[in-house]
Amino acid sequence: MSAAEGRAEGVEYMQWVPGKTHFRCDKLSATMSTTDCASRHAQATAGDERMLACRFCPIGAVHAGKDDPLQAASASAKVRIVGRPDNEDRCTRCGRGGLRLIHSGGEICVSCWNRQREWRIGKNAKGTAPKTFTPLRTRRVGLIVDGEPCYRLVPDTQNDAEPLAKSIRELPEGLAFHDEQPGITTWNEQAQRFEYRDRSDPTRVMLELIVDGMLHYVSAEADSVQPGDVIAAPTMPTMMASVHVAAIWLALDEDGDGAQVSTEWRPQPFVCSDCGIAQVRARRFAGWVECRCPACASSTKSAVVA
Ligand SMILES: [Zn+2]
Ligand SMILES: [Zn+2]
Repeated sequence: MSAAEGRAEGVEYMQWVPGKTHFRCDKLSATMSTTDCASRHAQATAGDERMLACRFCPIGAVHAGKDDPLQAASASAKVRIVGRPDNEDRCTRCGRGGLRLIHSGGEICVSCWNRQREWRIGKNAKGTAPKTFTPLRTRRVGLIVDGEPCYRLVPDTQNDAEPLAKSIRELPEGLAFHDEQPGITTWNEQAQRFEYRDRSDPTRVMLELIVDGMLHYVSAEADSVQPGDVIAAPTMPTMMASVHVAAIWLALDEDGDGAQVSTEWRPQPFVCSDCGIAQVRARRFAGWVECRCPACASSTKSAVVA
């Protein structure tokens, strides 16, 4: 049986019972058999939220008989990567390519940089206050780092495509995205707010902890929250969609929040769900919205709804 045969590199195995192999799982702080581990991984991959901790585990993927743990760790995997997720002369904010970029506090084009400067000093070239600038704010991105789902905060972003573009540019190769939420989004009647509750115990709230630009979520007893603890406010998950779904969505939503669809190819606020590593790109062409992924090359088009 293949589930018991797979051996992960760097893991020490023990043979206590005939026919069973045990190992120490650091993640769950438990000693378990490779077959239990494999079935936990299979349940997690099938969407069982109680097994969430196991979902992106590369060791679990090996025990479950997946050949390439890195492939299994990336959201979906079975596609061939034929291109790079980024091209480096593209503005991470407006998505236009072939421009000179300003390499400080982001990689934005001269035009986006000037708009940002005018907004910061409160006046434009005509000496009046800029009115149309969409204020910058911090956005959260779901990333898979070393096989683990985690969250990164990207400051000074203007649209939902920008934190994806910045992460692809700034982080090392092998980056993948995920669209998990760190808990169950719940309305707290007493406190009059939405908050995350722990999946494995919904009486517990999730606190947020920011370390080096990464956002961590920590489960805590609701009545043990101390002054200074920050109860995490739910935010949108990273949007992942196939090129097909993205094209249908963009053809409907002409004034969407992301980089707009123009006659030139531009990165959109969706991560390609086929490969999990690149932004879906879109352009408008002859009454259609066309979408393609620069990494796995999947492509489609959808008729624009008037
Ligand atoms: Zn720009
Ligand atoms: Zn793709």
